[in-house]
Amino acid sequence: MASIQNNLAQTRARILQAAKACGRSPNEIQLLAVSKTFPAEDIRTAFSLGQKLFGENYVQEGIAKVQALHDLRPEIEWHFIGPIQSNKTKDVAEHFDWVHSIDRLKIAQRLNDQRPEHMAPIQVCVQVNISGEASKSGVMPNELLNLCQHISEMPRLCLRGLMSIPEPTDDITLQKKAHRSLFELLQTLRNSTELDQSKVQLDTLSMGMSSDIDAAISEGSTMVRVGTAIFGKRTYS
Ligand SMILES: *Cc1c(COP(=O)(O)O)cnc(C)c1O
Repeated sequence: MASIQNNLAQTRARILQAAKACGRSPNEIQLLAVSKTFPAEDIRTAFSLGQKLFGENYVQEGIAKVQALHDLRPEIEWHFIGPIQSNKTKDVAEHFDWVHSIDRLKIAQRLNDQRPEHMAPIQVCVQVNISGEASKSGVMPNELLNLCQHISEMPRLCLRGLMSIPEPTDDITLQKKAHRSLFELLQTLRNSTELDQSKVQLDTLSMGMSSDIDAAISEGSTMVRVGTAIFGKRTYS
C-alpha cells in the first residue's frame, strides 16, 4: 500500500514536471497504470488513490481482474495493451473499454463483430512498428493508412490514435526520435484527406513507459503506460 502510494505520487509528479518542461498542460496527459502480473488488490489500492485507467497484457489474467473488480465499474477503465490472437478477440471485446494493440485487419474486424451491443464502441489505437524490427508487433508505417481506413468504417470501433513500443534504449535522444516518428504519423493521419475525419477521433498518442516517460511527453504523448514505476518490478512465473 505505502509503496504504491509513494510510487503513484512520484509518477504523477514526474508527469507534471515533464509537461512543465516542454510547456504542455499536464491535463493533456493521462496515466495508464499497467497492472500485468500484479494482483487485483494492488489495482484496488491504486484505484483508492484516484487512479482510474488500468492496462493489462494477457487476456485470461486481465479478465480475472476485470471480474474481481466489477464493483469499481463504471469509474474504472480497462485497457488491453498486449498482443491479441484471433481466438481471444471475443474475450477482449466483451471485457475491455480500450484496445491499444490493433495491428492487423483481421483482429479489428473480429473485435468489431464481437463487441456486445449493450456496450459502447471499443476505443482503439493502432500499434505501429516504429523501430522496424521483424520480431516486434505493430503495423509498418506504410500500411497504416490502409488499416485506419478500414477501421474508420467499423461502427463498433472508435479509432482514437496510435500506440508504439519502441526498442528500449537509455539514450534520451533515441527515445525522443522514436516518439517523434509516432507523433508525425498521427499528424499525417489527422491531415489526411484519404481518411474520413468525421468517422475517427484522432486525439490519442499512447507512448511512454517507466523508462521513457519524459521523452514521450516532450514528443506529444497523451497517454503514458506505466507499470514498474507504480507497482514495482515484475516477476513472471
Ligand atoms: C508492460 C508494458 C508497459 C509498462 O512497462 P513498464 O516498463 O513496466 O512501465 C507498457 N506498455 C506495454 C505494451 C507493456 O506491455
